[in-house]
Amino acid sequence: MSWFKRDNHEIIVDSQKTVRTEGVFTKCAACGTFLVKAELDANLQVCSKCGRHFRFDARDRIENLLEPGYRLVDLGLRSTDPLQFTDLKPYKRRLEEAQRKTGLNDAIVNAIGHIGPQPVVLSVMEYAFIGGSMGAVVGETIARAVDRAHDTRTPLIVVSASGGARMMEGIASLMQLAKISTALARLAQAKIPYISLMTDPTTGGVTASFAMLGDLNIAEPGALIGFAGPRVIEQTIRQKLPEGFQRSEFLLEHGFLDAIVERKNLKSYLGNALAWLAEGSGE
Ligand SMILES: [Zn+2]
Repeated sequence: MSWFKRDNHEIIVDSQKTVRTEGVFTKCAACGTFLVKAELDANLQVCSKCGRHFRFDARDRIENLLEPGYRLVDLGLRSTDPLQFTDLKPYKRRLEEAQRKTGLNDAIVNAIGHIGPQPVVLSVMEYAFIGGSMGAVVGETIARAVDRAHDTRTPLIVVSASGGARMMEGIASLMQLAKISTALARLAQAKIPYISLMTDPTTGGVTASFAMLGDLNIAEPGALIGFAGPRVIEQTIRQKLPEGFQRSEFLLEHGFLDAIVERKNLKSYLGNALAWLAEGSGE
């Protein structure tokens, strides 16, 4: 006779006794703390425990930076799928799904408004739309923001969040690098300030063009910023990369950034920077 007897080996899951946490909590990927979603929203998607900056929706970013009464502009453009590209699924379907998910036509939102008393043209990338990749629509929309800044002599801020050029548009996406860089050169000649804000992640063709061309290049803490990914670089140079390579802090230390600014301080920082740059340009 055995001392203990087990009737069966099944574990009975009582759905009445389990608590649904999905949608209420988010686990911080950096420190492992469970964060209440409503509090995370109130804290601008920054972990209250360790300060990790999560990705931030483009429209929430605009709402957070600009004074009430701003206007969203240049929202009408849509990709035509010039290569009729298919990878795991047709690019057309990928676009439709991203449009449904984000409520945007592509990975960018332009706005005009003010930060404090300073007028500004603001262009913000949306990472949730196919990884914030830059195709012809993103490129053209940013170019329009640059032209708008030029024609109205208004400072420009571009907020980057991008995996780089959109491979489904091939050469058409790479041409955007030259187009935006040319427009920015014209803006610089007209002595109109341009501030680039890099957020997690800013990589590939976006880093290789407008993200690094600001009169001020600033970033949020802990953002991945680079051209090629670390794995590709390690395989190419056959060396292990140093700790924290391609993060904001590393880039600041090595002279690629002018400042790292926490999200909660961005609005006041940008307001001060715009006032200071306007003085410098003699306006
Ligand atoms: Zn955390």
